[in-house]
Amino acid sequence: MKIAVFAGDGIGQEVTREAVRVLEAVDLPGLTLFEGDVGGVAYHRHGHPLPAETLDIARASDAVLFGAVGDPTCDNLERHLRPEQAVLGLRAELGLFSNLRPATVFAGLEDMSGLKPELARSIDMLIVRELNGDVYFGDKGMRETPEGEREGWDMMSYSESEVRRIAHSGFQAARKRGSKLCSVDKANVLETSQLWRDVVIEVAAEYPDVTLSHMYVDNAAMQMVKDPGQFDVVLTGNLFGDILSDLASMCVGSIGLLASASLGERTTEFGTFGLYEPIHGSAPDIAGQGIANPMAMILSAAMMLRHSFGNEAQAVRIENAVSAALADGVRGGDLGGDLGTSAIGDAVLARL
Ligand code: ATP
Ligand code: MG
Repeated sequence: MKIAVFAGDGIGQEVTREAVRVLEAVDLPGLTLFEGDVGGVAYHRHGHPLPAETLDIARASDAVLFGAVGDPTCDNLERHLRPEQAVLGLRAELGLFSNLRPATVFAGLEDMSGLKPELARSIDMLIVRELNGDVYFGDKGMRETPEGEREGWDMMSYSESEVRRIAHSGFQAARKRGSKLCSVDKANVLETSQLWRDVVIEVAAEYPDVTLSHMYVDNAAMQMVKDPGQFDVVLTGNLFGDILSDLASMCVGSIGLLASASLGERTTEFGTFGLYEPIHGSAPDIAGQGIANPMAMILSAAMMLRHSFGNEAQAVRIENAVSAALADGVRGGDLGGDLGTSAIGDAVLARL
Protein backbone atom coordinates (compact mmCIF):
# COMPACT_ATOMS: atom_id res chain seq x y z
CA MET A 1 0.00 0.00 0.00
CA LYS A 2 1.79 3.11 -1.23
CA ILE A 3 0.25 6.35 -0.03
CA ALA A 4 1.46 9.77 -1.12
CA VAL A 5 1.10 12.26 1.72
CA PHE A 6 0.93 15.89 0.59
CA ALA A 7 0.20 17.94 3.68
CA GLY A 8 0.50 21.34 1.95
CA ASP A 9 -0.01 24.66 3.69
CA GLY A 10 -1.33 26.07 6.95
CA ILE A 11 -3.49 23.69 8.94
CA GLY A 12 -2.96 21.12 6.17
CA GLN A 13 0.29 20.24 7.92
CA GLU A 14 -1.35 19.97 11.33
CA VAL A 15 -4.39 17.90 10.39
CA THR A 16 -2.40 15.57 8.11
CA ARG A 17 -0.11 14.66 11.00
CA GLU A 18 -3.13 13.37 12.97
CA ALA A 19 -4.54 11.45 10.00
CA VAL A 20 -1.17 9.76 9.51
CA ARG A 21 -1.10 8.76 13.19
CA VAL A 22 -4.52 7.15 12.74
CA LEU A 23 -3.44 5.30 9.58
CA GLU A 24 -0.38 4.00 11.36
CA ALA A 25 -2.51 2.83 14.29
CA VAL A 26 -4.93 0.71 12.26
CA ASP A 27 -3.69 -2.58 10.94
CA LEU A 28 -2.60 -1.97 7.34
CA PRO A 29 -0.12 -4.54 6.07
CA GLY A 30 2.58 -3.11 3.82
CA LEU A 31 1.63 0.53 4.47
CA THR A 32 4.32 2.86 3.10
CA LEU A 33 4.02 6.64 3.13
CA PHE A 34 5.81 8.97 0.71
CA GLU A 35 5.80 12.66 1.53
CA GLY A 36 5.81 15.41 -1.08
CA ASP A 37 5.54 19.20 -1.17
CA VAL A 38 2.51 20.97 -2.62
CA GLY A 39 1.12 24.50 -2.52
CA GLY A 40 2.85 27.51 -1.05
CA VAL A 41 5.33 25.29 0.78
CA ALA A 42 6.35 23.79 -2.57
CA TYR A 43 6.52 27.19 -4.22
CA HIS A 44 8.87 28.50 -1.56
CA ARG A 45 11.09 25.40 -1.69
CA HIS A 46 11.02 24.51 -5.38
CA GLY A 47 9.60 27.55 -7.20
CA HIS A 48 6.41 25.71 -8.21
CA PRO A 49 3.21 24.72 -6.33
CA LEU A 50 3.22 21.28 -7.97
CA PRO A 51 6.86 20.27 -8.55
CA ALA A 52 7.63 17.42 -10.95
CA GLU A 53 8.96 15.26 -8.11
CA THR A 54 5.64 15.61 -6.25
CA LEU A 55 3.74 14.53 -9.36
CA ASP A 56 6.08 11.56 -9.73
CA ILE A 57 5.37 10.50 -6.13
CA ALA A 58 1.62 10.71 -6.81
CA ARG A 59 1.93 8.65 -9.99
CA ALA A 60 3.94 5.96 -8.21
CA SER A 61 1.39 5.68 -5.38
CA ASP A 62 -1.95 3.89 -4.95
CA ALA A 63 -3.63 6.94 -3.40
CA VAL A 64 -2.92 10.52 -2.37
CA LEU A 65 -3.74 11.96 1.03
CA PHE A 66 -3.94 15.72 0.53
CA GLY A 67 -4.04 18.33 3.31
CA ALA A 68 -4.80 21.80 2.02
CA VAL A 69 -3.16 24.49 -0.08
CA GLY A 70 -3.40 28.24 0.23
CA ASP A 71 -0.81 30.75 1.31
CA PRO A 72 -1.49 34.48 1.65
CA THR A 73 2.17 35.25 0.84
CA CYS A 74 1.52 33.86 -2.66
CA ASP A 75 -1.50 36.08 -3.41
CA ASN A 76 0.35 38.28 -5.88
CA LEU A 77 1.94 35.51 -7.91
CA GLU A 78 0.89 34.77 -11.46
CA ARG A 79 -2.04 32.37 -11.57
CA HIS A 80 -0.04 29.27 -12.59
CA LEU A 81 2.27 29.70 -9.58
CA ARG A 82 -0.47 30.06 -6.97
CA PRO A 83 -0.84 27.26 -4.37
CA GLU A 84 -4.38 26.38 -5.53
CA GLN A 85 -2.91 25.25 -8.84
CA ALA A 86 -1.45 22.22 -7.05
CA VAL A 87 -4.81 20.57 -6.52
CA LEU A 88 -6.14 21.60 -9.94
CA GLY A 89 -2.94 20.29 -11.53
CA LEU A 90 -3.12 16.98 -9.65
CA ARG A 91 -6.76 16.47 -10.66
CA ALA A 92 -5.94 17.15 -14.30
CA GLU A 93 -2.68 15.17 -14.42
CA LEU A 94 -4.15 12.18 -12.62
CA GLY A 95 -7.47 12.22 -14.52
CA LEU A 96 -9.57 12.60 -11.36
CA PHE A 97 -13.03 13.39 -12.71
CA SER A 98 -15.32 12.15 -9.95
CA ASN A 99 -15.64 14.07 -6.70
CA LEU A 100 -17.40 12.33 -3.82
CA ARG A 101 -18.59 14.28 -0.82
CA PRO A 102 -20.52 12.40 1.83
CA ALA A 103 -22.74 14.45 4.11
CA THR A 104 -24.12 13.05 7.34
CA VAL A 105 -24.79 14.65 10.70
CA PHE A 106 -23.01 12.98 13.58
CA ALA A 107 -25.08 12.14 16.64
CA GLY A 108 -25.03 15.03 19.08
CA LEU A 109 -24.22 17.63 16.43
CA GLU A 110 -27.76 18.24 15.15
CA ASP A 111 -27.72 21.69 16.71
CA MET A 112 -24.69 22.69 14.57
CA SER A 113 -26.68 22.23 11.38
CA GLY A 114 -28.31 25.18 9.68
CA LEU A 115 -31.46 23.05 9.63
CA LYS A 116 -33.93 21.96 12.30
CA PRO A 117 -32.50 19.03 14.34
CA GLU A 118 -35.02 16.49 13.05
CA LEU A 119 -34.20 17.42 9.45
CA ALA A 120 -30.46 17.41 10.21
CA ARG A 121 -30.74 13.90 11.64
CA SER A 122 -32.28 12.65 8.40
CA ILE A 123 -29.28 13.68 6.26
CA ASP A 124 -27.28 10.81 4.81
CA MET A 125 -26.28 11.66 1.29
CA LEU A 126 -23.35 11.47 -1.05
CA ILE A 127 -22.84 14.13 -3.68
CA VAL A 128 -21.08 12.83 -6.78
CA ARG A 129 -19.81 15.84 -8.72
CA GLU A 130 -18.18 15.75 -12.16
CA LEU A 131 -14.84 17.55 -11.95
CA ASN A 132 -13.23 17.81 -15.37
CA GLY A 133 -15.87 19.38 -17.63
CA ASP A 134 -18.63 22.01 -17.72
CA VAL A 135 -18.22 25.79 -17.80
CA TYR A 136 -14.92 25.65 -15.92
CA PHE A 137 -13.13 24.11 -18.89
CA GLY A 138 -15.11 25.27 -21.93
CA ASP A 139 -14.08 28.12 -24.19
CA LYS A 140 -14.20 31.39 -22.28
CA GLY A 141 -13.34 34.96 -22.96
CA MET A 142 -14.08 38.63 -22.69
CA ARG A 143 -14.46 41.08 -25.54
CA GLU A 144 -15.66 44.54 -26.26
CA THR A 145 -18.84 44.77 -28.31
CA PRO A 146 -19.22 47.27 -31.18
CA GLU A 147 -21.37 49.29 -28.73
CA GLY A 148 -18.36 49.58 -26.45
CA GLU A 149 -19.51 47.45 -23.54
CA ARG A 150 -17.67 44.39 -22.24
CA GLU A 151 -19.11 40.96 -22.93
CA GLY A 152 -17.93 37.80 -21.21
CA TRP A 153 -18.72 34.16 -22.04
CA ASP A 154 -18.07 30.70 -20.67
CA MET A 155 -19.10 27.77 -22.76
CA MET A 156 -20.82 24.92 -20.94
CA SER A 157 -20.11 21.64 -22.65
CA TYR A 158 -20.23 17.93 -21.91
CA SER A 159 -19.54 15.01 -24.20
CA GLU A 160 -21.37 11.69 -23.93
CA SER A 161 -18.25 9.91 -22.73
CA GLU A 162 -17.69 12.50 -19.98
CA VAL A 163 -21.25 12.07 -18.73
CA ARG A 164 -21.11 8.29 -19.07
CA ARG A 165 -18.05 7.86 -16.88
CA ILE A 166 -19.35 10.08 -14.07
CA ALA A 167 -22.75 8.36 -14.32
CA HIS A 168 -21.04 5.01 -13.75
CA SER A 169 -19.30 6.50 -10.70
CA GLY A 170 -22.65 7.62 -9.35
CA PHE A 171 -24.45 4.33 -9.93
CA GLN A 172 -21.59 2.32 -8.46
CA ALA A 173 -21.63 4.51 -5.37
CA ALA A 174 -25.42 4.16 -5.10
CA ARG A 175 -25.11 0.39 -5.26
CA LYS A 176 -22.86 0.45 -2.19
CA ARG A 177 -25.27 2.72 -0.29
CA GLY A 178 -29.06 2.99 -0.34
CA SER A 179 -29.46 2.18 -4.07
CA LYS A 180 -31.15 5.50 -4.87
CA LEU A 181 -29.68 7.99 -7.31
CA CYS A 182 -31.03 11.46 -8.04
CA SER A 183 -29.53 13.03 -11.15
CA VAL A 184 -29.57 16.82 -10.96
CA ASP A 185 -29.60 18.94 -14.12
CA LYS A 186 -31.39 21.80 -15.82
CA ALA A 187 -32.73 19.84 -18.76
CA ASN A 188 -35.64 22.23 -19.29
CA VAL A 189 -33.28 24.93 -20.57
CA LEU A 190 -29.78 23.51 -21.19
CA GLU A 191 -28.62 21.29 -24.06
CA THR A 192 -25.79 19.91 -21.91
CA SER A 193 -28.39 18.88 -19.35
CA GLN A 194 -30.55 17.21 -21.99
CA LEU A 195 -27.53 15.16 -23.05
CA TRP A 196 -26.72 14.51 -19.39
CA ARG A 197 -30.21 13.15 -18.78
CA ASP A 198 -30.19 10.98 -21.93
CA VAL A 199 -26.85 9.41 -21.02
CA VAL A 200 -27.77 8.89 -17.36
CA ILE A 201 -30.95 7.06 -18.44
CA GLU A 202 -28.91 4.92 -20.83
CA VAL A 203 -26.34 4.03 -18.13
CA ALA A 204 -29.13 3.30 -15.64
CA ALA A 205 -30.08 0.24 -17.72
CA GLU A 206 -26.89 -1.40 -16.43
CA TYR A 207 -27.94 -0.80 -12.81
CA PRO A 208 -31.50 -2.15 -12.56
CA ASP A 209 -31.05 -2.43 -8.79
CA VAL A 210 -30.64 1.36 -8.43
CA THR A 211 -33.72 3.59 -8.41
CA LEU A 212 -33.13 6.63 -10.63
CA SER A 213 -34.87 9.98 -10.35
CA HIS A 214 -34.22 13.36 -11.97
CA MET A 215 -34.46 16.82 -10.50
CA TYR A 216 -33.85 20.31 -11.83
CA VAL A 217 -31.06 22.03 -9.94
CA ASP A 218 -33.21 24.88 -8.63
CA ASN A 219 -35.65 22.40 -7.15
CA ALA A 220 -32.77 20.29 -5.79
CA ALA A 221 -31.43 23.29 -3.87
CA MET A 222 -34.86 23.84 -2.35
CA GLN A 223 -35.39 20.14 -1.57
CA MET A 224 -32.01 19.85 0.16
CA VAL A 225 -33.14 22.37 2.72
CA LYS A 226 -36.80 21.33 2.86
CA ASP A 227 -36.38 17.54 3.01
CA PRO A 228 -32.71 16.47 2.82
CA GLY A 229 -33.52 12.95 4.03
CA GLN A 230 -34.97 12.08 0.60
CA PHE A 231 -31.49 12.04 -0.99
CA ASP A 232 -29.09 9.13 -1.13
CA VAL A 233 -26.67 9.67 -4.02
CA VAL A 234 -26.92 13.02 -5.83
CA LEU A 235 -25.24 12.90 -9.24
CA THR A 236 -24.49 16.22 -10.90
CA GLY A 237 -22.19 18.28 -13.10
CA ASN A 238 -19.27 20.44 -12.13
CA LEU A 239 -21.02 23.80 -11.67
CA PHE A 240 -24.21 22.52 -10.01
CA GLY A 241 -22.11 20.18 -7.86
CA ASP A 242 -19.94 23.03 -6.67
CA ILE A 243 -22.96 24.93 -5.42
CA LEU A 244 -24.96 21.99 -4.06
CA SER A 245 -22.04 20.51 -2.17
CA ASP A 246 -21.49 23.77 -0.28
CA LEU A 247 -25.19 23.91 0.44
CA ALA A 248 -25.11 20.33 1.75
CA SER A 249 -22.06 21.05 3.88
CA MET A 250 -23.86 23.87 5.67
CA CYS A 251 -26.80 21.55 6.33
CA VAL A 252 -24.30 19.31 8.11
CA GLY A 253 -22.70 22.03 10.18
CA SER A 254 -18.99 22.15 10.64
CA ILE A 255 -16.41 22.54 7.92
CA GLY A 256 -13.98 20.62 10.14
CA LEU A 257 -15.88 17.35 9.69
CA LEU A 258 -16.31 17.03 5.93
CA ALA A 259 -14.19 14.70 3.85
CA SER A 260 -13.94 14.23 0.09
CA ALA A 261 -12.55 11.87 -2.50
CA SER A 262 -11.58 12.56 -6.11
CA LEU A 263 -11.45 9.43 -8.24
CA GLY A 264 -10.54 8.63 -11.82
CA GLU A 265 -10.42 5.66 -14.14
CA ARG A 266 -6.99 4.48 -13.06
CA THR A 267 -7.04 1.36 -10.95
CA THR A 268 -4.27 -0.19 -8.87
CA GLU A 269 -3.86 -3.70 -7.51
CA PHE A 270 -5.97 -2.57 -4.53
CA GLY A 271 -8.80 -0.53 -6.02
CA THR A 272 -9.45 2.85 -7.63
CA PHE A 273 -6.67 5.42 -7.50
CA GLY A 274 -7.85 8.57 -5.75
CA LEU A 275 -7.00 11.78 -3.99
CA TYR A 276 -8.52 12.37 -0.54
CA GLU A 277 -8.81 15.73 1.14
CA PRO A 278 -10.91 17.60 3.68
CA ILE A 279 -13.23 20.15 2.11
CA HIS A 280 -11.78 22.95 4.22
CA GLY A 281 -8.77 24.96 3.11
CA SER A 282 -5.49 25.93 4.73
CA ALA A 283 -7.24 28.29 7.19
CA PRO A 284 -4.45 30.88 7.43
CA ASP A 285 -6.35 32.59 10.26
CA ILE A 286 -5.74 29.67 12.66
CA ALA A 287 -2.66 28.04 11.09
CA GLY A 288 0.25 27.23 13.40
CA GLN A 289 -1.84 27.44 16.56
CA GLY A 290 -2.58 23.73 16.92
CA ILE A 291 -6.32 24.33 17.15
CA ALA A 292 -7.62 23.01 13.80
CA ASN A 293 -10.04 20.09 13.95
CA PRO A 294 -8.33 17.13 12.23
CA MET A 295 -11.52 15.06 11.96
CA ALA A 296 -12.27 15.96 8.31
CA MET A 297 -8.77 14.84 7.41
CA ILE A 298 -9.06 11.65 9.45
CA LEU A 299 -12.40 10.91 7.76
CA SER A 300 -10.72 11.55 4.37
CA ALA A 301 -8.17 8.86 5.26
CA ALA A 302 -11.08 6.51 6.04
CA MET A 303 -12.57 7.25 2.60
CA MET A 304 -9.19 6.39 1.12
CA LEU A 305 -9.21 2.98 2.76
CA ARG A 306 -12.74 2.40 1.45
CA HIS A 307 -12.32 3.52 -2.17
CA SER A 308 -8.65 2.99 -2.98
CA PHE A 309 -7.92 -0.07 -0.86
CA GLY A 310 -11.29 -1.81 -0.60
CA ASN A 311 -10.78 -1.93 3.17
CA GLU A 312 -14.30 -1.21 4.36
CA ALA A 313 -13.62 -2.73 7.79
CA GLN A 314 -10.83 -0.32 8.70
CA ALA A 315 -12.68 2.62 7.10
CA VAL A 316 -15.70 1.96 9.28
CA ARG A 317 -13.47 1.47 12.30
CA ILE A 318 -11.98 4.95 11.85
CA GLU A 319 -15.39 6.52 11.18
CA ASN A 320 -16.79 4.88 14.30
CA ALA A 321 -13.88 6.17 16.37
CA VAL A 322 -14.58 9.73 15.16
CA SER A 323 -18.28 9.47 15.83
CA ALA A 324 -17.66 7.93 19.27
CA ALA A 325 -15.33 10.82 20.11
CA LEU A 326 -17.99 13.32 19.02
CA ALA A 327 -20.68 11.49 20.96
CA ASP A 328 -18.43 11.72 24.05
CA GLY A 329 -18.24 15.49 23.66
CA VAL A 330 -14.83 15.79 21.99
CA ARG A 331 -15.05 19.24 20.34
CA GLY A 332 -12.63 21.44 18.46
CA GLY A 333 -12.99 25.19 18.11
CA ASP A 334 -15.10 24.79 14.98
CA LEU A 335 -17.71 23.01 17.16
CA GLY A 336 -17.57 25.49 19.99
CA GLY A 337 -15.13 23.40 22.04
CA ASP A 338 -11.58 24.02 23.13
CA LEU A 339 -9.65 20.84 22.31
CA GLY A 340 -6.58 21.26 20.13
CA THR A 341 -5.53 19.31 17.06
CA SER A 342 -3.37 16.69 18.75
CA ALA A 343 -5.80 16.24 21.67
CA ILE A 344 -8.56 15.46 19.15
CA GLY A 345 -6.18 13.06 17.39
CA ASP A 346 -5.51 11.37 20.76
CA ALA A 347 -9.24 11.12 21.46
CA VAL A 348 -9.87 9.40 18.11
CA LEU A 349 -6.89 7.07 18.55
CA ALA A 350 -8.13 6.09 22.00
CA ARG A 351 -11.45 4.99 20.49
CA LEU A 352 -10.12 3.00 17.55
P1 ATP B 1 -8.43 28.50 1.44
O1 ATP B 1 -8.16 29.67 0.59
O2 ATP B 1 -7.19 27.70 1.76
O3 ATP B 1 -9.55 27.66 0.96
P2 ATP B 1 -10.30 29.77 3.18
O4 ATP B 1 -10.05 30.83 4.18
O5 ATP B 1 -11.04 30.07 1.97
O6 ATP B 1 -8.89 29.09 2.85
P3 ATP B 1 -10.89 27.61 4.91
O7 ATP B 1 -9.44 27.39 5.05
O8 ATP B 1 -11.70 26.44 4.57
O9 ATP B 1 -11.20 28.64 3.82
O10 ATP B 1 -11.42 28.27 6.26
C1 ATP B 1 -12.70 28.85 6.42
C2 ATP B 1 -12.94 29.13 7.91
O11 ATP B 1 -13.16 27.90 8.60
C3 ATP B 1 -11.75 29.78 8.59
O12 ATP B 1 -12.19 30.72 9.52
C4 ATP B 1 -11.05 28.65 9.29
O13 ATP B 1 -10.36 29.03 10.43
C5 ATP B 1 -12.19 27.68 9.61
N1 ATP B 1 -11.72 26.29 9.50
C6 ATP B 1 -11.43 25.63 8.36
N2 ATP B 1 -11.04 24.39 8.60
C7 ATP B 1 -11.08 24.22 9.94
C8 ATP B 1 -10.75 23.14 10.82
N3 ATP B 1 -10.32 21.96 10.36
N4 ATP B 1 -10.88 23.35 12.14
C9 ATP B 1 -11.32 24.52 12.62
N5 ATP B 1 -11.64 25.57 11.85
C10 ATP B 1 -11.52 25.44 10.52
MG1 MG C 1 -11.60 28.28 0.54
